[in-house]
Amino acid sequence: MPEPQEAAPGEPQEAQMEEAEVETFAFQAEIAQLMSLIINTFYSNKEIFLRELISNCSDALDKIRYESLTDPSKLDACKDLHIRIVPDKELKTITIEDSGIGMTKADLVNNLGTIAKSGTKAFMEALQAGADISMIGQFGVGFYSAYLVADRVVVQTKHNDDEQYLWESSAGGSFTIKNSNDPTLQRGTRITLYMKEDQTDYLEERRVKEVVKKHSQFIGYPIKLMVEKERDREVSDEEEEEEKKEVEEKKEDEEENEEKPKVEDLDEDEDEDKNKDKKKKKKIKEKYTEDEELNKTKPLWTRNADDITQEEYAEFYKSLTNDWEDHLAVKHFSVEGQLEFRALLFLPKRAPFDMFENKKKKNNIKLYVRRVFIMDNCEDLIPEYLHFVRGVVDSEDLPLNISREMLQQSKILKVIRKNLVKKCMELFDDIMEDKDNFKKFYEQFSKNLKLGVHEDSTNRKKLSELLRYYTSQSGDEVTSLKDYVSRMKENQKSIYYITGESKDSVQNSAFVERVKKRGFEVIYMTDPIDEYCVQQLKEYDGKTLVCVTKEGLELPEDEEEKKKLEESKAQFEGLCKVMKEILDKKVEKVVVSNRLVTSPCCIVTSQYGWSANMERIMKAQALRDTSTMGYMAAKKHMEINPDHPIVKTLKEKADADKNDKAVKDLCMLLFETSLLASGFFLEDPTSHANRIHRMIKLGLGIDEDDIPTEPTAESGTDEMPPLEGDEDDASRMEEVD
Ligand code: ADP
Repeated sequence: MPEPQEAAPGEPQEAQMEEAEVETFAFQAEIAQLMSLIINTFYSNKEIFLRELISNCSDALDKIRYESLTDPSKLDACKDLHIRIVPDKELKTITIEDSGIGMTKADLVNNLGTIAKSGTKAFMEALQAGADISMIGQFGVGFYSAYLVADRVVVQTKHNDDEQYLWESSAGGSFTIKNSNDPTLQRGTRITLYMKEDQTDYLEERRVKEVVKKHSQFIGYPIKLMVEKERDREVSDEEEEEEKKEVEEKKEDEEENEEKPKVEDLDEDEDEDKNKDKKKKKKIKEKYTEDEELNKTKPLWTRNADDITQEEYAEFYKSLTNDWEDHLAVKHFSVEGQLEFRALLFLPKRAPFDMFENKKKKNNIKLYVRRVFIMDNCEDLIPEYLHFVRGVVDSEDLPLNISREMLQQSKILKVIRKNLVKKCMELFDDIMEDKDNFKKFYEQFSKNLKLGVHEDSTNRKKLSELLRYYTSQSGDEVTSLKDYVSRMKENQKSIYYITGESKDSVQNSAFVERVKKRGFEVIYMTDPIDEYCVQQLKEYDGKTLVCVTKEGLELPEDEEEKKKLEESKAQFEGLCKVMKEILDKKVEKVVVSNRLVTSPCCIVTSQYGWSANMERIMKAQALRDTSTMGYMAAKKHMEINPDHPIVKTLKEKADADKNDKAVKDLCMLLFETSLLASGFFLEDPTSHANRIHRMIKLGLGIDEDDIPTEPTAESGTDEMPPLEGDEDDASRMEEVD
């Protein structure tokens, strides 16, 4: 029989010989890896396993409650929605049970072992990068934290649409599933952990209470802990005998949650002769068990904000989000009047690892209707760019049995959404007051804010206040558009910006030379999303945003400068024409520039096409349809600097003979180097390299005949191949060196 590990994930192996109904499955490779990592990593904060399992129970209860809103019969098997924890010191087990939705056999196979989520790998990578195991819940693999404390886990589960099953695994690469038939589990899931020898502390009542209070006090269903108690009772001898018998019988039925008197000890009255007075009462100590509710706190959002401490908000936030850190900011508010709802919105400290993943859950706001959880993925509750905001909304007006489709059209929901967005803006404003916190926030969520500027025209202005950029004058600090405007020169009408790959590349670019020299500040936009954001932003505080790499840049000029430019234009008209002829389709046009100081030329793009940076971003998107590249690709305009000696000399040469081969070659070289300097890629880098090599040879005074064609060639008899397309040039240059 093959080893369990050899089975493909999801494929049942041959049934084991002794128990025909047991099926063995191999864990998917990454999951198996994750499990052994969990088991073998030294880690002391193991208590989080309970939080993770309780959180799963709560999700399962949410699901069945949601189903029951449209079909109440779904609750028939068990009406009471709860979570129950039962420690057993004798067996060294802790059992966590819920009356939630349960799992079908397929759910068991898929969810607990054979289908890895993106979080499985992401979590392992995060661990390797120094992340903490307690972050497990955020990666959607919290179940496996059971193996922090247990060496064997048994999951008994019953879904309304399927039979009852028992999943079991002691890790080691495989798990088993078999049918089970336990009448005490009518619906839901019961997870039993067989604790490792050194983890039995979690069987202590005090420890469980402590952990639940710390991590799970805001779970929306009662969490009951079975506790053992003792009490005195007076009984006669006969009653005592009877009870003793009863207890014996009941012993087998340990699971039951009724009061179970266990007669342990007798406190005998001082009575020398028992037989004398059989009726005489005795005091006995009896042990019994009882369920104690551990989370009696009212839902936090229903309470008065003034009575809630920051610690309570933090605990609530953590239990809501599985985050291991406190929130960064919170807004607790209610709306009354025609429409009534309460809400709690949190800004996290960090962006989730999968924030911009397509398959991700649509948002992070839980929707409740009159304290009943409805759903946590209602797309229309909040716009996409705000998906990082976490929280709850509790509506008084929506019907309980509302379907997803009805929600989409609901006017009530639209009003709620509008209010949530408004409150988010207030939250951002609040956080802006605190410089340090705002910095943290901006580092994590600037992409979302920029996406917001792109998408949300209503709040564009508000969001634009939050933007921060490095500029030619900001030094090591980022600056806001407001501050930029406050520094604008008197005659300055526009806000100048440049987009590019990095601060270094844009601050040294030829485009900003003159703008900077004239004393105008230039904003450096170096995040790919800036390209999209600025397309929509267009203006701030009545000032147009002008890209310094696009054609038609107009700097405020005085009369003299204007006159000079006109003169240059007339003077260089001829050269521009010659260059356009040489470059042909490579450029739209060649014009005299007003933006260059030290560079001879640059390539600008048309007002409405892509910039060089946008072209770079688009090319980097591997799966993009290449056909759009054609018509959207940047339309290039070459600009020449009339004051530059290279351009001046080139003009003289071209004036003398416009068909001069050197003019052609130099013109091509200028064009290609400008492309590179302006942030474009070369279509044909080899011919560019060849041209450069020829220049180097000229510079070094190397005679073409002196160059050996092959390193091992006996003599230099080989002829120099023609310049264009000479791929070997580069290696030959190394030889020369
Ligand atoms: P997550 O809960 O974040 O999806 P887990 O690893 O904790 O990740 O659980 C994996 C899946 O197993 C869950 O998505 C759920 O479908 C299922 N599951 C776990 N615990 C329960 C439970 N108590 N009741 C029903 N389903 C459960």
